[in-house]
Amino acid sequence: YHTLRVILGDQLNAGHKWLRKVDDGVLYLMAELHPEATYVKHHFQKLCAFFLAMEKFSEALQEAGHQVRFLTLDHTQDKTLASLIMETANEIGVRRIELQRPDEYRVLMEYKSVAEKAVQSVSLHDTQHFMLPFDDIPKHFKPKAPTRMEHFYRKMRQRFNILMEDENTPEGGKWNFDSSNRHKLKAKDMAHIPEPLCFQQDVTTIKERIERHQIPYLGKPCDTLLWPVTRHDALTLLQFFCDHLLPNFGRFQDAMTDQTPHKWSLYHSRLSFALNTKMISPKHVIKAAVLTYEYRKKDISIAQVEGFVRQILGWREYVRGMYWINMPDYHDQNALEAHRDLPSYFWNGHTKMNCLSQAIGQSLEYAYAHHIQRLMVTGNFCLLTEVAPSQVDEWYLGIYVDALEWVELPNTRSMSQFADGGWIASKPYAASGSYIQRMSDYCASCHYDVDEKTTDNACPLNSLYWRFMDKHRERLFKNPRIGVIYGNWDRQDASYRQDILDRAQWCLDNIEEL
Ligand code: FAD
Ligand code: SF4
Repeated sequence: YHTLRVILGDQLNAGHKWLRKVDDGVLYLMAELHPEATYVKHHFQKLCAFFLAMEKFSEALQEAGHQVRFLTLDHTQDKTLASLIMETANEIGVRRIELQRPDEYRVLMEYKSVAEKAVQSVSLHDTQHFMLPFDDIPKHFKPKAPTRMEHFYRKMRQRFNILMEDENTPEGGKWNFDSSNRHKLKAKDMAHIPEPLCFQQDVTTIKERIERHQIPYLGKPCDTLLWPVTRHDALTLLQFFCDHLLPNFGRFQDAMTDQTPHKWSLYHSRLSFALNTKMISPKHVIKAAVLTYEYRKKDISIAQVEGFVRQILGWREYVRGMYWINMPDYHDQNALEAHRDLPSYFWNGHTKMNCLSQAIGQSLEYAYAHHIQRLMVTGNFCLLTEVAPSQVDEWYLGIYVDALEWVELPNTRSMSQFADGGWIASKPYAASGSYIQRMSDYCASCHYDVDEKTTDNACPLNSLYWRFMDKHRERLFKNPRIGVIYGNWDRQDASYRQDILDRAQWCLDNIEEL
């Protein structure tokens, strides 16, 4: 061999230029590694999904004629990525080590150490996945400064000519149909929610391996995995989304319910794992959705497809830019000085708050929750109760099948916890129980009363919300989007305000009992 090429678990891009030509002088190295499996406590299904997707990808490469060395935990023992690469390169006597640009800062640091220590020449190659070239990130983002997603998103729509009538006019006359994306699911809608397409991947050998190596995990273990683990699966899931879910995607994007067996997935694509492992490209997904819209304009409105395109071309590319422009400083941000421990029900779902119990429960069961559950249920609760952002990050990074730091960290620490003081969000995503009631049917079967603020059975979020607003008044008052809320608060009787603050304090003092 003359060259060693490394492919990581989130670099499963079958369309990568490396793979166009078969060269017997090139060895592809893929490996399950202890440090990667344990740098955070991952969900069992997340471990299985990554390991199986890697195994399948290595098999596909071999079938295509490439030389591949795929190592499991049994082979790599406690080796780090850097040591494995250097040992393998020395053992097979190559002149060159070729790597793909990692999406995570932690891995970039490992690659830097390989470049410093290896005797071979080391080069870094693009992953050919994202829409925005890596070198363009500084053109759109500034370190430690606000950059709004909407502005970035419009530039991306124009640059890639997606959903545009002409160079400057967005399709449908509006850039953003967010206001049409806030429908609640009513009883009559439940019967129409499609049954989610779930795969049946056998993961019994991986399960044995995880147990044999005593890899700590959270969430529900399984023998069969429902997530896509090959490009073929990913394309099937995309097709299913376009056929059955896109027509209502935008409409019910923010809705939550506990009234249907399909409550955990609703109209969401569940493509994040396939995208983040690069089994499928954002360009391909966007193209498929836009083409479906163009062929089915009679039953798919612009609001549905724009809502979807915004998530991928907008949010996903945007958080990657925010991540890289702000690393490694991101980890230190704690603008609201939150220091509380994450309550124990985040690990078992045992809480009387139905919204939280539903969102945590399904996360443990499926390694998945949709965006509004992450942002406005678990995230909002952690924001209002001042949980330390490092603990919040760790939970999100472990529990979701799609969780990789480049996408998890900006979403959690910035968007949901406002720990950056406003780089991403112009105001904290703080909400009382009335938001949950507006967007879900959770409150109807909750132990707490969403209409109460001060009583023993009052929804905890109501008093916690006002405590949060009161506490951060100085920071938030001047924000034109929030100032008006203080008018409502100030109009209340002083003793009533005190009762609300007392109830909030009780909730904080008894957070484990909620
Ligand atoms: P859909 O609702 O079908 O959306 C389509 C696609 O849009 C997703 O697959 C995803 O690739 C992209 N997308 C949507 N919203 C975002 C967003 N805010 N940021 C980036 N991409 C987005 N997403 C991850 O991929 N990994 C994470 O670790 C992650 N952590 C999150 C933590 C918090 C606190 C919050 C609020 C959001 C997080 N998200 C994360 C974003 C989003 O919640 C998930 O991408 C989405 O729920 C995945 O489900 P889906 O594929 O069904 O998405
Ligand atoms: Fe959640 Fe409060 Fe509604 Fe219960 S009443 S589901 S705690 S918002």
